[in-house]
Amino acid sequence: MVLPLRALLAGRRRLPRPAARRLCPLSLPLSRRAPLSAPLPAAPPARLRSGQAEAAGGDGAMLRHLARKLRASGPVTVAEYMREALTNPGQGYYTRRGGVGESGDFITSPEISQVFGELIGIWYISEWMAMGKPSTFQLVELGPGRGTLTEDILRVFKQLTSVLSKCDVSVHLVEVSPKLSEIQAVMLTGGKVQPNPEDESAYMKGISKTGIPIFWYRDIQDVPPGYSFYLAHEFFDALPIHKFQRTEKGWREVLVDIDPEVPDQLRFVLSPSRTPATQNFIQPEETRDHVEVCPEAGVIVQRLASRIEKDGGAALVADYGHDGTKTDTFRGFRNHKLHNVLSAPGTADLTADVDFSYLRKMAQGKTATLGPIKQREFLKNMGIDLRLQVLLQNSGDTATREQLLRSYDMLMNPEKMGDCFNFFALLPHHRLVHPDKKDKPESKSPLPPVAGFNELLLK
Ligand code: SAH
Repeated sequence: MVLPLRALLAGRRRLPRPAARRLCPLSLPLSRRAPLSAPLPAAPPARLRSGQAEAAGGDGAMLRHLARKLRASGPVTVAEYMREALTNPGQGYYTRRGGVGESGDFITSPEISQVFGELIGIWYISEWMAMGKPSTFQLVELGPGRGTLTEDILRVFKQLTSVLSKCDVSVHLVEVSPKLSEIQAVMLTGGKVQPNPEDESAYMKGISKTGIPIFWYRDIQDVPPGYSFYLAHEFFDALPIHKFQRTEKGWREVLVDIDPEVPDQLRFVLSPSRTPATQNFIQPEETRDHVEVCPEAGVIVQRLASRIEKDGGAALVADYGHDGTKTDTFRGFRNHKLHNVLSAPGTADLTADVDFSYLRKMAQGKTATLGPIKQREFLKNMGIDLRLQVLLQNSGDTATREQLLRSYDMLMNPEKMGDCFNFFALLPHHRLVHPDKKDKPESKSPLPPVAGFNELLLK
């Protein structure tokens, strides 16, 4: 593979990043990651007892809101609980707190090292070139956090202006959190944004510091159609999951309820019978005893695949996850520490490993998929070693060099983020196989391999 890398890898600029603090599921205590072992109580058949939930005010507004809801209509699915806790418009964790970064609850790869975003920027340019340099493309990021990843990508686009000069690029951010969209606006535009532009489906728009138009949306469906490169880094793990437990009586859904013994506490219970979700989401051939499914991730991947099939482009998904093998991965984080998922909802990040086998199934037919491939392999294939060398050579002081090496270790070490984070891509079928290959295999030159998923060859 040949990447248009020389100019970028030679860039001298090093940006300050916080001292890397690790947040990788592999580092969690085993007990938290083990499957639910104790049998869960069955949910009450009808509604909950009255009286106790109103007292559940100690942990704040979200708990009071949930307790009222549970008392009125009975236990809710884990998906509903997670949706409320994370994105409730008034009290949700992302809505109010945001959480990403060193001063928040968890830190992500782009916040650790600029190199991460730079290599992803190169991935898009490489794919854009391989796809015949279309005259326009949209970069669409789902869940941009603080905007750091987009900022690093846009810096690469700026450095490669000569390559991209004839291309009309725009950026489209899908973000539900007003708080985070404000932080993104400051990071990317210096705060010069126009809220509620009349002529757009976006809720905000602005111009990046590098001169590229940026638009904000709450839902991927609001992003205008067109040739697009999609990006979802640590996005799918934040979407609501359903949890299912195999019992002697068959599959039951795990629900969230008020604990009748302790008024201001929530607990898991099992649905007394099968639910529509157990029927729809558990495959007859399933061998695990505990399964998590994220239908919202499935719907979004189907949408991305349809859009790529119709308008062209590609999607890059990076997250921690598995290929349909893991069981109980639901967990919470607060102040960089594990946090009980049912305690003080709305004040902690809730997350579950992404099931890439499910995403692959959802994309099938419409696009081809590549991966999941481990982060350390993907970044190596993208040239991270070379980039590190350039930065090391250009940094004069020992502290900076040590910081560069520490953040490299964090991203690449198999025991840190190197193995548990994965890259996964959706690409048009014709990107991997010539449409007429079957008829005339010898008539076409080979397609360039997809960067990151193949070993790096630098010319
Ligand atoms: N990609 C960033 C942030 C990851 S945190 C990084 O790697 O640093 C998850 C992000 O997804 C946050 O920006 C959060 O507000 C956003 N988010 C969570 N649920 C969402 C939803 N349903 N729709 C749109 N954005 C969502």
